[in-house]
Amino acid sequence: MSGLHIPIGTPDGSRTEHAENLLAPNPSVMTLDGTNTWVIGAGEEVLVVDPGPEDEAHLQRVRDHLGERRVTEILLTHGHFDHSGGAGRFARMVNAPVRALDPRHRLGDEGLADGDVVTVAGLEIHVYGTPGHSFDSLCFWLPADRAMLTGDTVLGRGTTIIARDGGLADYLRSLDRLRAAAESLEARALLPGHGPVLPDPIGALDGYIAHRRERLEQIRAAREQGARTARQIVKIVYADVDRSLWPAAEMSVLAQLDYLDAS
Ligand SMILES: [Zn+2]
Repeated sequence: MSGLHIPIGTPDGSRTEHAENLLAPNPSVMTLDGTNTWVIGAGEEVLVVDPGPEDEAHLQRVRDHLGERRVTEILLTHGHFDHSGGAGRFARMVNAPVRALDPRHRLGDEGLADGDVVTVAGLEIHVYGTPGHSFDSLCFWLPADRAMLTGDTVLGRGTTIIARDGGLADYLRSLDRLRAAAESLEARALLPGHGPVLPDPIGALDGYIAHRRERLEQIRAAREQGARTARQIVKIVYADVDRSLWPAAEMSVLAQLDYLDAS
């Protein structure tokens, strides 16, 4: 795609025509290279999506990078700390409101919800409610670049986890909705909350959906073999996965057991 730039090595500096990533320095097994802070705009005005954790050096770097450009609004893909922790501090630095689905993460009067259209410098950003990773997860569609910012709903590498404030039934519906949107809108890129840009949105979403269905089948099978607790299931289903990820896997298994028991 013309205008899509994916650097080698780290997602820092990856971009589409009107969106640019400034990577926060908080790498971990859960956050991959760190949190992607997306700057969206044209000309004098920009929006900042997910300032990241409360890391003064990162927030200053974003501020310095903007130069004379004015931040009109700060948007959050969801309230998890690695995305929202620095939002209050950054809001004071640039004198802009914070908009999020969850009122606890807002600064200012305006919320953010499915169907909202936010504008900056003539660019539109369409808000999609995509609960599942967390109850308050949103995705942002940037029609000018045919790019979808996916927060932690779809990551640039590996798969996401279903947090305790999310749910698998919602998550599967959100993936189906994003898949349909990517097809009908002819999306050219997914811009995730962690990891590199995904230049094949439909392929990436199909992979996510297939992975979830496969894991559910594996969990059903593990139960048939007699596994009862989430820990016992993790040992069977995630045997090939690095042990540092087992606690996260256990959370995912709990979410999948909730789903299987409810359906
Ligand atoms: Zn995250």
